[in-house]
Amino acid sequence: MKTTCPYCKTDSVFYRAEKLTDTESSLDLQCADIKACGARTTYTLSVKKLLQPSRLPIDKQNPNPNGLLSSRQRIHCSCCGQPAVIYARYNPTHITSDFYTQCQNPACQARVLVDLSYQSTELPPITNVQLMAVQIIRTTPPKRRAELQLDLLAMAG
Ligand SMILES: [Zn+2]
Ligand SMILES: [Zn+2]
Repeated sequence: MKTTCPYCKTDSVFYRAEKLTDTESSLDLQCADIKACGARTTYTLSVKKLLQPSRLPIDKQNPNPNGLLSSRQRIHCSCCGQPAVIYARYNPTHITSDFYTQCQNPACQARVLVDLSYQSTELPPITNVQLMAVQIIRTTPPKRRAELQLDLLAMAG
């Protein structure tokens, strides 16, 4: 499952998934462009619609104990817990995506529409001002850095 940073549209790196309920998981993502953005965001992955019910009887259905998403970023069927494949993706906005999934368990074959949507920002992106400051510090020889710091503090009053 591929995700992009809501701030700069760079691919995001997935670093944690947590089960909330059988039909909902939360995902922590970090922008892959750590130097220029590095925003950390939380998304929710939830079952939006059961497109084709599971062939398994209700008492044989068993959702995945780790939730909809495995640690290897694999989507699992919300009915039987087995891995599912994404056969279509639709992005209504840049902070929400719909994934059409099909369960790979032949005894189940459920088709589920899951929705990935932005929840919150844990770490905001690096701003241009911060980036400029970093550039100035990088181009300043190490010996001058301490003086620069004092100069800036003096200027700030
Ligand atoms: Zn970003
Ligand atoms: Zn299934």
